[in-house]
Amino acid sequence: MKKISIIESKDNVGKEVTIGAWVANKRSSGKIAFLQLRDGSAFFQGIVVKSEVGEEVFQLAKGLNQETSILITGTIQEDSRSKFGYEIVVKNLEVIGESHDYPITPKEHGTEFLMDHRHLWLRSTRQHAIMQIRNEIILATYKFFNQEGFIKIDPPILTANAAEDSTELFHTEYFDEEAFLSQSGQLYMEAAAMAFGKVFSFGPTFRAEKSKTRRHLIEFWMMEPEMAFMDHEQSLEVQEKYIAYIIQSVLDNCDHSLGVLGRDREVLENYTKLPFPRIFYDDAIVLLNKNGFDEIKWGDDFGSPHETFIAEQFDKPVFILNYPKAIKAFYMKPHPDRDDVVLCADLIAPEGYGEIIGGSEREVDFEALTERIEEFGLTQEDYAWYLDLRKYGSVPHSGFGLGLERAVTWICGTEHIRESIPFPRLLNRIYP
Ligand code: ATP
Ligand code: MG
Ligand code: MG
Ligand code: MG
Repeated sequence: MKKISIIESKDNVGKEVTIGAWVANKRSSGKIAFLQLRDGSAFFQGIVVKSEVGEEVFQLAKGLNQETSILITGTIQEDSRSKFGYEIVVKNLEVIGESHDYPITPKEHGTEFLMDHRHLWLRSTRQHAIMQIRNEIILATYKFFNQEGFIKIDPPILTANAAEDSTELFHTEYFDEEAFLSQSGQLYMEAAAMAFGKVFSFGPTFRAEKSKTRRHLIEFWMMEPEMAFMDHEQSLEVQEKYIAYIIQSVLDNCDHSLGVLGRDREVLENYTKLPFPRIFYDDAIVLLNKNGFDEIKWGDDFGSPHETFIAEQFDKPVFILNYPKAIKAFYMKPHPDRDDVVLCADLIAPEGYGEIIGGSEREVDFEALTERIEEFGLTQEDYAWYLDLRKYGSVPHSGFGLGLERAVTWICGTEHIRESIPFPRLLNRIYP
């Protein structure tokens, strides 16, 4: 007997096959039972007809509890009523693992309850759809950067320096020394760009975010390209091309998942049309002040209501360019014509999803960078290796960071970032 997964149904219509699956749900009458089956590849229906299978198998099917694992044998047929399009007419079934009192029933549950049961919640159709889209974005990222001539380089996770905001650092021990969990691989990626030209990393990063928002995780995955001999303008072009590419990949390969999530394809299609609009930080402040945001002034960073308002002025993601030097990281290059802003941009997603990408051109001059390190109250010794990059063939270079879970949340159109990663780490949650 051929063993297949549910997703392979379309190639097996009319054939007798075996499938290993879990019972997601079930309904039955005196003569027929409908099993909602899940095997990780997809969801579909199994039909058990009493007159076909006999009393014993029918009673077994009728008595199956939610999440019991079974092996079923039967014939695949088309099912025009379901979105998936196929079902299995069961001939025989065997219970592999019993399940009793499964806590997540088909009725509504509160978020805290679902979060406590995240290890089981992952089995739902909705979580399945989100993880499929997450997977597609990861695959598309690898494809895109490989096509563009980048190589993947993995920066360390245990580090001795802080790349960004030291208040958000996780401290740990490295034998007798203090160490930190990486907040960003950026500095190492600059070293990698000087060695390999165009590089990208894709790995976990950690930030002790003290505030509860629907956009911040404590542990999240970041994608960080760094490009030698590229100025900030060229980096912006890579960024928008990359975003359009991942969205197109999701549209091409995740139609079913988008449907499960009720995500409008047309809205996403619009985000693949380039270029993305741009606004300068200076103008964004003026725009906000004119529209009732009186409290924000030049020199402040945007909060989420500000980002949302700015994004609402456009129908696509928008780049906000040239932020004040004082609110950005020490390694960003000042604007050549004015010293108070840096050559950087944040890409703000539409629909209130906020900052998706932060990027900049890097300061490449040894003296200027040394000064910046001091201004930021950092010590030169800690950054000696990084400063070396400016001593031996320093070249213009730029890079950016995209938060995977921000992208997943936005592309899925879901409410909260907690559903975009299998096991979210949040301010008050490290379990399960
Ligand atoms: P924010 O302003 O939203 O706090 P940031 O400016 O601190 O973000 P960066 O240091 O620029 O973030 O990191 C690059 C990208 O990583 C961000 O654009 C965002 O997509 C993502 N990111 C940052 N912090 C988090 C977080 N706590 N959880 C999930 N993604 C994050
Ligand atoms: Mg932050
Ligand atoms: Mg920011
Ligand atoms: Mg940022």
